[in-house]
Amino acid sequence: MSRFLNARFASLEAYTPGEQPTDMKYIKLNTNESPFPPSEGVIAALDRSAAENLRLYPDPECTELKRALALEYGTTPANVFVSNGSDEILNFAFMSFFDDGVVFPDITYGFYRVYADLYSLKYREIPLDEDFRIRTEDYIGTKSNIVLANPNAPTGIALPVSEIERIVASNPEHIVLVDEAYVDFGAESCVPLTEKYKNLIVCATYSKSRSMAGARLGFAIADAALIADLEKIRFSTNPYNINRLTLAAGAAALRDAEYYRKNCRIIEENREYTADGLRDLGFSVLPSSANFIFASSPDIGGTELYLKLRERGILVRHFTLDRIKEYNRITIGTARQMETFLREVKNIIGGER
Ligand SMILES: *Cc1c(COP(=O)(O)O)cnc(C)c1O
Repeated sequence: MSRFLNARFASLEAYTPGEQPTDMKYIKLNTNESPFPPSEGVIAALDRSAAENLRLYPDPECTELKRALALEYGTTPANVFVSNGSDEILNFAFMSFFDDGVVFPDITYGFYRVYADLYSLKYREIPLDEDFRIRTEDYIGTKSNIVLANPNAPTGIALPVSEIERIVASNPEHIVLVDEAYVDFGAESCVPLTEKYKNLIVCATYSKSRSMAGARLGFAIADAALIADLEKIRFSTNPYNINRLTLAAGAAALRDAEYYRKNCRIIEENREYTADGLRDLGFSVLPSSANFIFASSPDIGGTELYLKLRERGILVRHFTLDRIKEYNRITIGTARQMETFLREVKNIIGGER
């Protein structure tokens, strides 16, 4: 740290992204990317003329993409916000709305704590129950802003929309931000509730179910007044936050919705196959509605399994937080990748006994 950094950032602990190693080719099951390429329509949108147009700034209003998202989600462009990955929506939301404090689960997406620290916000982490579930009652009438990932990460467990509605309805003077990064893998979306509740923001991403983590594209749906607030902050930081290629790719992806839906169903099948395989090997596997599973074994420690898999060319995500250090989060890939994964786990465990 230089002596020039503003004092308020001295103790800030930055977010640690999952590894993107370049030393060798891994079976990469550590950052919840899709194993499938973007659709043909997306690839076609990234043609020579799109590249040549890079000399021009992108549309700061993101007109075409907002219109396409509004159509897809049964709302209007005034209810849609788009951003450079959904991390940026989280950033803007924490910056815009949470000066009077925010709560989120103790085990959840690590970036919530980082943004709370970045803006020196008061925050409270509410423990998940013993089964790693969010207890709805803990969020009823909190008198605080609330951020929930649904399905939650890294547990993969989803709350029904009816439970989220109870939380939203009981905190009318505060924002409830529902992060639906993984909703397309079998959970139920809260987007329809945004018509009824003026304090609900639902955010989502192209990074997981739409195979575009590298393009950086996220979106939020909420009451038009909340979207206008987010736009004010966006136009006060970087109105050109989404580049031209990503805008074009994002609209094209929506025209190929069937392709992505099919991929999600394949991931769900592979998820159940992998979860069954791990349970057969004695693992405890949380019930996931996401494109990953969270699992621990009575026979091998979380760190050790992570390291042994890495030696064998398979990357999974391990967290050092005390409550979850015996677990690993395993992204669901292709059937072949998951077969290899299960075979190597079996070899490792066999070697342990
Ligand atoms: C991956 C993820 C995000 C961030 O997605 P980007 O759109 O790639 O920034 C946000 N929230 C959760 C819970 C995630 O897992």
